[in-house]
Amino acid sequence: MADPYGFLKHTRAEAKKRPVAERVADWNEVYLDLDQQTRDSEVRTQATRCMDCGIPFCHSGSAGCPLGNLIPEWNDLVRRGDWELASERLHATNNFPEFTGRLCPAPCEAACVLAITPDAGGAVAIKRVEQTIADVSWEQGLVRPTQAQVSSGRKVAVVGSGPAGLAAAQQLTRAGHEVTVFERDDRLGGLLRYGIPEFKMEKKVLDRRLAQLRKEGTKFVTGCEVGVDLTVEQLRERFDAVVLAVGALRGRDDTTTPGRSLKGVHLAMEHLVPANRACEGDGPAGIDAAGKHVVIIGGGDTGADCYGTAARQGAASIVQLDQYPQPPSQRDDARSPWPVWPWVLRTYPAHEEAGERRFAVAVEEFVGDEDGHVRQIKLRKVRVEKDASGRRKVVPMSEEVELLPADLVLLAIGFEGVEHMPLLDGLGIPLTSRGTISCGSDWQTTAPGVFVCGDAHRGASLVVWAIAEGRSVANAVDTYLTGSSDLPSPVIPNQLPLAVV
Ligand SMILES: Cc1cc2nc3c(=O)[nH]c(=O)nc-3n(C[C@H](O)[C@H](O)[C@H](O)COP(=O)(O)OP(=O)(O)OC[C@H]3O[C@@H](n4cnc5c(N)ncnc54)[C@H](O)[C@@H]3O)c2cc1C
Ligand code: SF4
Repeated sequence: MADPYGFLKHTRAEAKKRPVAERVADWNEVYLDLDQQTRDSEVRTQATRCMDCGIPFCHSGSAGCPLGNLIPEWNDLVRRGDWELASERLHATNNFPEFTGRLCPAPCEAACVLAITPDAGGAVAIKRVEQTIADVSWEQGLVRPTQAQVSSGRKVAVVGSGPAGLAAAQQLTRAGHEVTVFERDDRLGGLLRYGIPEFKMEKKVLDRRLAQLRKEGTKFVTGCEVGVDLTVEQLRERFDAVVLAVGALRGRDDTTTPGRSLKGVHLAMEHLVPANRACEGDGPAGIDAAGKHVVIIGGGDTGADCYGTAARQGAASIVQLDQYPQPPSQRDDARSPWPVWPWVLRTYPAHEEAGERRFAVAVEEFVGDEDGHVRQIKLRKVRVEKDASGRRKVVPMSEEVELLPADLVLLAIGFEGVEHMPLLDGLGIPLTSRGTISCGSDWQTTAPGVFVCGDAHRGASLVVWAIAEGRSVANAVDTYLTGSSDLPSPVIPNQLPLAVV
């Protein structure tokens, strides 16, 4: 039973960050590494604020946690100092809480009853509690390999080693199937490895979880593009079922703005991947912001990651541009009532480190020098409207054109879905108009025995959704192979229009 008065005694306290000057001088995570006693006691106080509200919207899939994390249960266990049972309850619904504890935007907190009114002191710091349970679990040796007792004799190929593929693989290995994860990159992890920068999640956090999966029996093959290095015929011959967890990595480009082909104008991932590789020890990043005026186009998460990366590389200036107006700092009930995911200004730690953000502006032209290298951008104030057919239209709001210095321009304007690849052609699987792979209610694609999960199914989304879909697909594959499944599966829609969170 939770403490019903906890939230009256304590207000929400965020985890402390390292000073800006210190953190931009390295690539380590931005949050302060507190001594264990202080951390555990602060987090127990935060968990005490969870008040047994009766209907915990935080752990429901439609507005709260897509994994159905048992948040009030483990908040109370942490309050009482029972980290071992809290770890058990957390891992019951989430394969990788150390990833979500660091990376999740926490829709659960937006749906917390204490977030209805600011007077209640703010939502319970659920994500912070989750990360601490996960970290304590590793420190105390509570995360052990779970080996299957009986082998099914069935073989499953998982294509892609991002969070969706890893969650599916772990679940299916634990159910007794022989699982091989194929990854075309040289290292495992998908966007956890080469998209998300170290300062959000250090790669050692990923590596220790991969070691657990290996000990449980999951096999990994890197540097293997399925459909090319392993043909579709070989795939079908060697495996009883296939899970496509190939992500949605087709970056959206700007094909209309004059000057796009100038040197120095790049897609965001052309900046982030080599920067992550440099942290892995692969040598200096080819596209480096050091000493440059950096302009990031696109106001979302990927743009914020470019922002923090450019700050650490020593950019001369950083400006992030967004075509949309600046959102309000508090939830606007008319537009996004509690408990839905609110439209509010999201400020990432990177935004405190350098530079500035500009809203309601659009690039009119990239201006180059005589060597064909971008040096400036022409900028205009705009408004985003919808035309009669509901299509987005960007309308200039003034005649005035502003010139911004720009030696490195990074396009962080989203992803268009799954890349076109020989694997899908070979399997005869078409892409939807959104660039994703559709499936039936059993997560099976149009190719029999071939299943899909994660960004490949949802379109570019979140780590928490990737893990949730990986768990669900594992249940479906287990049922396909054996007739039934005891694997737990979050209750999430796989055919309905997908939530934007
Ligand atoms: C820069 C950036 C920052 C982000 N930050 C956050 C964040 O802070 N929080 C959050 O929740 N989400 C974040 N996201 C989103 C999150 O990373 C994704 O939603 C998540 O990684 C999707 O997981 P996935 O397993 O479906 O795909 P991915 O992680 O994309 O993995 C797909 C893998 O499949 C491999 N692959 C593809 N085709 C083949 C093939 N034919 N053969 C073999 N391998 C193949 C790819 O190489 C890749 O490794 C971010 C995304 C980006 C781009
Ligand atoms: S995974 Fe995300 S939504 Fe779920 S409890 Fe953790 S922070 Fe909240």
